[in-house]
Amino acid sequence: VTGTPKPPTTELDDIFISVKTTKSYHDSRLAMIVKTWFQLAKDQTWFFTDTDDPYYQEKTNGHLINTKCSQGHFRKALCCKMSAELDVFLESGKKWFCHFDDDNYVNIPRLVKLLDEYSPTVDWYLGKPSISSPLEIHLDSKNTTLNKKITFWFATGGAGFCLSRALTLKMLPIAGGGKFISIGDKIRFPDDVTMGFIIEHLLKVPLTVVDNFHSHLEPMEFIRPDTYQDQVSFSYALMKNQWNVVKVDGFDTKTDPRRFYSLHCKLFPYFSYCPHR
Ligand code: UDP
Ligand code: MN
Repeated sequence: VTGTPKPPTTELDDIFISVKTTKSYHDSRLAMIVKTWFQLAKDQTWFFTDTDDPYYQEKTNGHLINTKCSQGHFRKALCCKMSAELDVFLESGKKWFCHFDDDNYVNIPRLVKLLDEYSPTVDWYLGKPSISSPLEIHLDSKNTTLNKKITFWFATGGAGFCLSRALTLKMLPIAGGGKFISIGDKIRFPDDVTMGFIIEHLLKVPLTVVDNFHSHLEPMEFIRPDTYQDQVSFSYALMKNQWNVVKVDGFDTKTDPRRFYSLHCKLFPYFSYCPHR
């Protein structure tokens, strides 16, 4: 019996994984990624930072990109990095663009499995919002006194999101070649909001909610250990002197306060530094 032919499968090498980072996080956040999930996607993962760093340039096999964007957690600097991520992806020819923050743990095999369920030749904006209703913004246009109210969803950058090549090709004329920054300047919102504005509002492509992405805006302890395999991303944060981290057994909390290594060993116990039983 011949069934319908299976569409081409997505492999790890079809994915461009970009991680936004900054000089002051190289020794802390970047170091942890390099020792954990980066090892499972060395050729596909690129780090977008704001300085040259020979030490991590070597650790990442030359995958550290100095965007020359300014350092600092302000809108312009963040939009500048996202713009660089998008432009390098467009040049790469890969089928999927996935963005993550440097406080994300990315479950590589699960990411591949997720994207395998979608076609890169169809417009896909996959991610997870962190607000319960669409964002409402007011656009003031120069030529009119009218204040236009618009609403749209956006995927939280800190949970990670993925875009199909088809979608990014539609974005190219309006947001490619650095134009992403101008759009951010126009609406005066952060990079992930700007992304949602371009995709949902300008291109009318709806966000597809994927619950397996997680930012530290959600309580990490509620993700059940028996479901870790099924999650695409995790995060961690220190909030009011309290760690918002996954509740995973493993290394003691002094050695691994962010639970990054413990989570990695839970998912991939064969790594050399994982405790062997
Ligand atoms: N970041 C940056 N420049 C900065 C501070 C942060 O590029 O000066 C990046 C950081 O590396 C991370 C993202 O922005 O990928 C979010 O930063 P953070 O987690 O510190 O803040 P959050 O927005 O999650 O509260
Ligand atoms: Mn964060």
